[in-house]
Amino acid sequence: MSSGNILLNGVSYRRPTRPVVVVCIDGGDPAYIEQGIRDGIIPNIARFMHNGFSAIADGTVPSFTCPNNMSLITGAPPAVHGISGNYYLDVATGEAVVMTGPELLRSRTILAEFAAAGAKVVSITAKDKLRKQLGKDLDLTRGNISFSSEYANRCTMQENGIKDVLELVGMPQPDMYSMELSLFVLEAGIRLLERDRPDLMFLSLTDFIQHKHAPGDPVANQFYCQLDDKFGRLRELGAVVALTADHGMNDKSTPAGKPNVIFLQDILDREFGKGDTRVICPITDAFVKHHGALGGFVRVWCLGGRATPQAIIGLVKDMPGIAAALDKETVCRKFDLPPDREGDVAVIGGANVVIGAAAAEHDLSGLGDARLRSHGGVTEARVPFILSHPLNEKYRQRAAAGPIKSHHIFDYAINGVEAGR
Ligand SMILES: [Zn+2]
Repeated sequence: MSSGNILLNGVSYRRPTRPVVVVCIDGGDPAYIEQGIRDGIIPNIARFMHNGFSAIADGTVPSFTCPNNMSLITGAPPAVHGISGNYYLDVATGEAVVMTGPELLRSRTILAEFAAAGAKVVSITAKDKLRKQLGKDLDLTRGNISFSSEYANRCTMQENGIKDVLELVGMPQPDMYSMELSLFVLEAGIRLLERDRPDLMFLSLTDFIQHKHAPGDPVANQFYCQLDDKFGRLRELGAVVALTADHGMNDKSTPAGKPNVIFLQDILDREFGKGDTRVICPITDAFVKHHGALGGFVRVWCLGGRATPQAIIGLVKDMPGIAAALDKETVCRKFDLPPDREGDVAVIGGANVVIGAAAAEHDLSGLGDARLRSHGGVTEARVPFILSHPLNEKYRQRAAAGPIKSHHIFDYAINGVEAGR
């Protein structure tokens, strides 16, 4: 074994001298932390921000869960790792392809590289959909661990590198739609830090609470209060704790409380005819209660020959609620996206708007009476970037020169913190 340093996607990472824990607070808009500081309910995060480092970073656009989690664990944008949404359209088959398969991830991960270099690595996610990509190429036969709280009760040594997780964590199997699904991830991280003292941990939460509860809402505050307690315990155990988010979250409802939706497929069908274009909503996943598959970024493929990218852009770009309509080349250049998984046009919504396909394709019944809160656009790509420890001089200068990309969080947490303090 070498010194244990690794090199990935142009970044060299030194072997951590004490545990490094990176937490992705799914949907953790900076507004929750600002509110929590004002309300005095997150003393540990406040201490990190005061004694360590705090900034607002630029996340990956589209501001969805899968692309951002992959950016965080590869230290690179989607143009490199290939995951630019939860779904894309395979033009050859006409099928919408879910992008959670490890075979679609085009990069090695920081986790797998460190594990291969002899470090002990743990990856825990709330939603199982992320688990296989997060655990890609991770050798689970040598003490490394990868599991989801969603399926904590069915972990095996072969599949996850751990078993009897419920006993270890001391919590019952959490419900898929609960704050406990996230708290379980953190509690498991704390127990494993105590038991195994891994070199590197990635803990990825779920955004159920943020989709349902605005900053300052009692449930949101209760959630952040509990997150804060667990972050404090990770720090007390001697870890460098790094907090970021995959994306933020905005209210996407009309003043009357109805979802503020532009059904783009219906608009395009009226203009170009049915079947001529196909709108894909890359936020789509199994968690429809969160967002009804409505987000702030969609892709349009031109299939029938009537609609051209320029005609679509001309039709929609000035519509109220549309922030931008960009052709493939422009959106890929602007946001570092892989062209072979991009549509012919990307349409991005404003802060308080979501874009859907056809109205008939979206089941909004799961949203209930709650106001729709969602993400996906540029307005939700601002995320917290907080470290429990102060930066060394080199990274202080780099941060000051800005802007900071959230996918540099491992770089900052591993290389940017003073050793041994
Ligand atoms: Zn998310």
